[in-house]
Amino acid sequence: MTHTPVLLTPGPLTTSARTRQAMMLDWGSWDREFNTLTANLCQQLLSIVNGHASHHCVPLQGSGTFAVEAAIGTLVPRDGKVLVLVNGAYGQRLARICQVLGRAFTTFETAEDQPTTAADVQRLIRADASITHVALIHCETSTGILNPLAQIAQVVADHGKRLIIDAMSSFGALPIDAAQVPFDALIAASGKCLEGVPGMGFVFTDKAALAGAEGNSPSLALDLHDQHAYMARTGQWRFTPPTHVVAALHEALLQYHEQGGLAARHQRYASNCNSLLDGMAAIGLRSFLPAAIQAPIIVTFHAPRDPRYQFADFYERVKAKGFILYPGKLTQVETFRVGCIGCVGPHEMRAAVQAVADALREMEVLHI
Ligand SMILES: *Cc1c(COP(=O)(O)O)cnc(C)c1O
Repeated sequence: MTHTPVLLTPGPLTTSARTRQAMMLDWGSWDREFNTLTANLCQQLLSIVNGHASHHCVPLQGSGTFAVEAAIGTLVPRDGKVLVLVNGAYGQRLARICQVLGRAFTTFETAEDQPTTAADVQRLIRADASITHVALIHCETSTGILNPLAQIAQVVADHGKRLIIDAMSSFGALPIDAAQVPFDALIAASGKCLEGVPGMGFVFTDKAALAGAEGNSPSLALDLHDQHAYMARTGQWRFTPPTHVVAALHEALLQYHEQGGLAARHQRYASNCNSLLDGMAAIGLRSFLPAAIQAPIIVTFHAPRDPRYQFADFYERVKAKGFILYPGKLTQVETFRVGCIGCVGPHEMRAAVQAVADALREMEVLHI
């Protein structure tokens, strides 16, 4: 490949040249300028979720999962119990984290094309008084399904329970207002809809919940209470910060605002998703989810039913044309995924559909 491929994946994803350029400088972790950058970043992130009054933004080194694990370990007390809502691989991962951390949990699983409903959550909470926390995935990236966050959050709050949201693949693109949607923790990361590079997560934590979470964490490095306390006291990250990632995310956020913020980001991803769905439908590729529950983040497509179709071969052919796709993550049906997020627009989506069509023709799977 002669130039940078377009990543149509759920992260890492395509970044702008300006964001990559922001990584050309070395920062000292003690440096006042760098610490100002971090503080500034956290303030901007809080603004996106309208959380200044109610929440702290606690950044954390690592990929998104590190931040999810940190949130559960820090905010669920050792005698807590988590109701984990599952309709895909990331939901399964939440349950696995509870298990590894030794937190009591119970799962409620729906099919991969079935959102969890608020009525389900209400019934489950009423049936088990020992539940203290509910954890869910906002957009389940393993299919692209959207779970009804606002309704579930309301039910959880009405019953006096606490909510932990993995909004990794939706934050920054789908609206979430901390003043309307009550939660103890909302988790996202640098390398998704904000179009930064991967390397850090961040957790919006309810201020009171975090204040009461001292000593909960079974981990030193993933203790959000400690991370926050240290940062509040010194202005610095507790351990070596991912300096280039912070600088890139800061630059990505400047562009995010220049481009019109969340509404514009949502709009662009929705256009990407629509042009992808239309283009793929025209070459006979069906999406796995009905439109009503499809988030404009990533689309799962049924693989062509043809013995000449092999994902590995298909992937290489599409890659040679400049686009990186993603394998499917479903157990029952053969699928592949195409992301709608990143520094791409409808032009790239149309070109991607063209590349897919050409690859399938080369494989003699497509005859039009
Ligand atoms: C990307 C993602 C994560 C984090 O995955 P990492 O590989 O650790 O970055 C978690 N949850 C969801 C829903 C995601 O899309």
